[in-house]
Amino acid sequence: LEPLYSLMIRVRVPGGIASPAQWLRMDELADEYGNHTLKLTTRQAFQLHGVLKSDLKKTIQGFNEALLDSIAGCGDVNRNVMCNPNPHESPLHAAVYEVSKQISAHLTPRTSAYWDLWLNGEPQFTSAPNEGEQQDAEPIYGKTYLPRKFKIALAIPPYNDTDIFANDLGLIAIEEQGQLVGFNVAVGGGMGMTFGMPDTYPRLADIIGFVPADKVVDTCEKIVTIQRDWGNRENRKFSRLKYTVDRVGLDVFKQELDQRLGFPVEPARPYQFRSSGDAYGWSIQADGRAHLTLFVEGGRILDRDGYALKTALREIAAFHTGDFRLTGNQNLIIANIAPEHRLSVQAVLQQHGVAIEAGKEYTALRRGALACVALPTCTLAFAEAERYLPELLDRLDRVIRQQGLAQDDILLRMTGCPNGCARPYLGEIGLVGRAVGRYNLYLGAAFNGERMNKLYKEMLDEDGIVQELTPLLADYAQNRQPQERFGDFVIRQGYVQPTESGLTFHE
Ligand code: SF4
Repeated sequence: LEPLYSLMIRVRVPGGIASPAQWLRMDELADEYGNHTLKLTTRQAFQLHGVLKSDLKKTIQGFNEALLDSIAGCGDVNRNVMCNPNPHESPLHAAVYEVSKQISAHLTPRTSAYWDLWLNGEPQFTSAPNEGEQQDAEPIYGKTYLPRKFKIALAIPPYNDTDIFANDLGLIAIEEQGQLVGFNVAVGGGMGMTFGMPDTYPRLADIIGFVPADKVVDTCEKIVTIQRDWGNRENRKFSRLKYTVDRVGLDVFKQELDQRLGFPVEPARPYQFRSSGDAYGWSIQADGRAHLTLFVEGGRILDRDGYALKTALREIAAFHTGDFRLTGNQNLIIANIAPEHRLSVQAVLQQHGVAIEAGKEYTALRRGALACVALPTCTLAFAEAERYLPELLDRLDRVIRQQGLAQDDILLRMTGCPNGCARPYLGEIGLVGRAVGRYNLYLGAAFNGERMNKLYKEMLDEDGIVQELTPLLADYAQNRQPQERFGDFVIRQGYVQPTESGLTFHE
């Protein structure tokens, strides 16, 4: 008799956009086969948790009925392509979203195995490979696929809300007079490392230049093929693109890219990132349509006493004519709300205890916090994250309020292991699980995602975390300069040295 295995399934959502029908299907599948919750991930995807092995096929067939799939949700291929989740914000945002979909489609594996395994060999929706194209020969990945997973994100300055530098390949949209002209290209980012192996490290991507918009899909393909050909296939600990870039050097990498493209990548164009978080609450367009960004603690869509977010969103999906957008910060935008539905959306959320203006209900520290799933769901976890962080924040919130910092944005990220799924090395406060109840504390990342943090203290328990952070936060409240961010302050005050690169992360 086989043990009762239960699994997590990740559902790909390029750019994080789901229709109301897709939302309703995911909601149903969570109840039918999952643990009655949905997890919004830090890569704008859905996760269903607690799916029994015997229900896997039915669950995946359920995704398919809603034109969703789990292709490349895992594996040594390009994963979910991240993009600013609100294409209605401007024509520029819409153009960048289109590019993200093109990249996603272009880099989707062509193998028919997914359809053979889960859908009896019959792709049932339009984004499946065309009949003639569906084949086991992979034009980009080849016979052996990539040495390891590959991550791509696009961002539109001044918002780095997809944390592009944490990706193997980051694309920064460059505009002229509101029109998309191309992208600055950054390569070699990645958050994972292994404790006790200092030659593994998190790294931020380096900008290597600019490519015009009509060349960006080809540029992505060529960068993927360089990693396919040059990446380390002997040791998976060193097989991400970041190690390839550090091994060969940026100049050699760029020369190879120029050669494969057949034209030189141009010098990078000016841009500026201001922040990497989400702006909560309502934003109203000139035509009266509206978007509402909701804070979703830990990215978990669930119902509990006095707070029925899952039910509220199901009720809204039944009449909403816009869509739902998963942000890279585990939050949700109810987007493109028709003017006649605004009051109904508000009423449903209020009726179910969901705060609309997150700024009034929660401290900015809590609103900006990210946590990976960790224990008990993730088998790689050493410690708790999503399930425990709200409790820790209850204590930290008291310190924050005492210091008058309740509305000061400070980025806190927690993971249950050093693999870095919630991008903890980009937290102004980073907490990485070492053992049950014990965390390493990292400080000093930049608020806009352009500098990683540095190890400050090791193996802290909850009391230790609060005791270490209390005087730092008090110092920050009393001695910061105007507009100075917490991550910059702890460096200026000498608590930690700035991290200049992945290779110096452990120094
Ligand atoms: Fe699991 Fe580690 Fe990723 Fe958290 S960071 S989800 S514990 S692998």
